[in-house]
Amino acid sequence: MAMMTGEQYVESMRKMDLQVYMFGKKVENPVDHPILRPSLNSVKATYDLAQEPEYEDLMTARSVFTGEKVNRFLHIHQSTEDLMKKVKMQRLLGQQTAACFQRCVGMDAFNAVYSTTYEIDEKYGTRYHENFKKYAAYCEEHDFTVDGAMTDPKGDRGLAPHAQEDPDMYLRVVERRPDGIVVRGAKAHQTGAINSQEMIVMPTVAMGPDDKDYAVSFAVPTDAEGIIMIIGRQSCDTRKLEESQIDVGNSQFGGVEALVIFNDVFVPNERIFLDGETEFAGMLVERFAGYHRQSYGGCKVGVGDVLIGAAAVAADYNGCARASHIKDKLIEMIHLNETLYGCGIACSAEGHKTASGNYIIDLLLANVCKQNVTRFPYEIARLAEDIAGGIVVTAPSEADLRDPVIGPYVEKYLKAAKDVTVENRLRILRLIENLCLGTAAVGYRTESLHGAGSPQAQRIMISRQGNLPRKKELAKRIAKVEE
Ligand code: SF4
Ligand code: FE
Repeated sequence: MAMMTGEQYVESMRKMDLQVYMFGKKVENPVDHPILRPSLNSVKATYDLAQEPEYEDLMTARSVFTGEKVNRFLHIHQSTEDLMKKVKMQRLLGQQTAACFQRCVGMDAFNAVYSTTYEIDEKYGTRYHENFKKYAAYCEEHDFTVDGAMTDPKGDRGLAPHAQEDPDMYLRVVERRPDGIVVRGAKAHQTGAINSQEMIVMPTVAMGPDDKDYAVSFAVPTDAEGIIMIIGRQSCDTRKLEESQIDVGNSQFGGVEALVIFNDVFVPNERIFLDGETEFAGMLVERFAGYHRQSYGGCKVGVGDVLIGAAAVAADYNGCARASHIKDKLIEMIHLNETLYGCGIACSAEGHKTASGNYIIDLLLANVCKQNVTRFPYEIARLAEDIAGGIVVTAPSEADLRDPVIGPYVEKYLKAAKDVTVENRLRILRLIENLCLGTAAVGYRTESLHGAGSPQAQRIMISRQGNLPRKKELAKRIAKVEE
């Protein structure tokens, strides 16, 4: 099979035997659960769009393994153009779903593991790169969605992995067998884990020689024995059980995160990409994080486009679109959003070839990109709420609007500009609420802060990559300082 249609993807997820828990109960059918289904639809969009001739250039690429057409989410980047197309594809999907479409973590893991395993093999004569190439070709062949699992629970943040009171606070190897390893631990905030067929696990921090058992990277099917997923609650999640299309704001698409537990999961040798080479843990983390920080210059911008559009419609509906301060606020939102996009494109255009042959972004610019993402979506959301008005959080429900007794009051007193129906006004307000405060705020707001690493993680990289000594030299030369 080359590429799956969206429907084939949904059917393939139905066949998985995932151990998913939510509200203290096992979810027997995650695919059709009303709270979870919108998140599956977002991933489905990555398959649907790849089938459309209009988006072929962005959504697909030529496999480095077979030369066949593959979904770009499984592609090993071959040029800076590939890197830029990746960002454009993510903006497109953000625009189409107004949610996190989840499949990027696997793409970013693919490219980070590809180049890192090559360098480990060069140093140690290991076979990780061969392992990974075979695995990547297998995923391509089946057009899988792959979760990229990095973040450990981390326990006491002041202690290294091996020094934790509970040794499982970072995922680790608990047993080495001739045919493979057994791992235990957990990965937190796993975007799209429940909508993936496969999962690539990576370490979450740079490690020292004492952390040997923690420096491990591998791949497993998401329904491997011993894996349990606990769904993270989102603000307003149970509104999806109420069956009101209006009240949820975005009835079709969403994102999802889970805490993924690894209860002594067996990993065969051919699926291991790092095991004990501690000095490479940092490289893998840095590269994956760099790619994912680039990603945010695409996906958040696409979702931002929808939010800016919603704010502009809200202004039209309120009858105040011509007010100069409203126009100026919309300009500011566009300016901020395009600045993020500019960084996503810039770190891609300034990318370079790695020793393995794939392309990596400029790490300084990717970190600057993500640092801006920790701030600008908050300001864009603030301005959207400003333009929409307080009604964004005080509007009555759809049930009130439809009620024969109460409904006429809602119709009368929520009426704004001429020719605008109250229903349409509510739809737009609920979309803004969804993006700024509801289920999608996980992906648009808080994930902008913490996803792909919290702000301080980027500042550390910026300080490392920023080359301050060179800047000092420049200043001294211009000032003719002699020391
Ligand atoms: Fe992709 Fe953005 Fe979701 Fe990360 S947050 S998986 S980059 S859509
Ligand atoms: Fe993310």
